[in-house]
Amino acid sequence: MDASEHSKTYSNGELTVVWKPTLCCHAGKCVRNLPSVFKPKEKPWVQLENASSDEIRTAVALCPSGALSIQ
Ligand code: SF4
Repeated sequence: MDASEHSKTYSNGELTVVWKPTLCCHAGKCVRNLPSVFKPKEKPWVQLENASSDEIRTAVALCPSGALSIQ
């Protein structure tokens, strides 16, 4: 199955974050780096409105698996 079929996208109007759950190792690096945005226990679990685009870009770049990317 193509992993991209399961991609989820989240936008704040300025940038769009793509999350590919099949790549996510669930180690929670994003949660530790930017807990105001990445909230695994909530829905949606990515809440871009809680940080600046710069902070989001930085946290996405630190995702070790490539599960998070900017569109
Ligand atoms: S940092 Fe990336 S791989 Fe780790 S939990 Fe977050 S999205 Fe998944």
